[in-house]
Amino acid sequence: MIIAIDGPSASGKSTTAKGVASRLSITHLNTGAMYRAVTWAIREHGIDIRDKSKLDEFLNSVKISFDQFNNICISGKDVSKEISSTDISIMVSSVSAIPEIREKMVQIQRIISGKKDCVLEGRDIGTVVFPNAEYKFYLVADTLVRAKRRYLELKENGENCTLDAIIKNINDRDERDSTRKHSPLLQAEDAILIDTSKLTLDEQIEKIVNIVIQ
Ligand code: C5P
Repeated sequence: MIIAIDGPSASGKSTTAKGVASRLSITHLNTGAMYRAVTWAIREHGIDIRDKSKLDEFLNSVKISFDQFNNICISGKDVSKEISSTDISIMVSSVSAIPEIREKMVQIQRIISGKKDCVLEGRDIGTVVFPNAEYKFYLVADTLVRAKRRYLELKENGENCTLDAIIKNINDRDERDSTRKHSPLLQAEDAILIDTSKLTLDEQIEKIVNIVIQ
């Protein structure tokens, strides 16, 4: 069984997907973390993404995995804290628009979730990665609500940030993610729309779990 949860930045996908996976005792795959981790590795290794042969070489050698706590690792190193930084949030949409990178990520996503029940969250799960997913949800929320959630997350991580900068980043990423040529952010025709603006996390999880187990 595949449950696809897509939606714009900070619409509550990660926390909801994690909660749904835990309630149903199935795997949670955060595909945004994968694009962020690749972005981090590209920056770390100083890869010029316009140089196709260098990019191919990098994509053939990069090792992305999840440890036993579901933290994302690059070559065995847990990079979950690094990838949530503002720097990575600013870079990630340009990196994830590159077709070669998407191809590689989708390949890994299908391998990880191919043989088990899984909740995947991202931008193109219900449209591209698993168009035949049994359940599809599209989460949205008001920009200010989304920015405030992200602000609290970043503060918890000890990052200095302003609400205005977060609003700008959310809007910029949504614009880039929905207008790119390959696999743009899009609500699948058969996805159920959930507005999380006025919902608590428990209510979001409950809504999805109830639909899946009914
Ligand atoms: O989900 P999160 O906000 O962490 O995703 C970071 C970025 O990764 C998005 O803004 C988008 O550019 C990219 N992404 C994507 N496709 C996915 C998941 C994330 O392009 N399936």
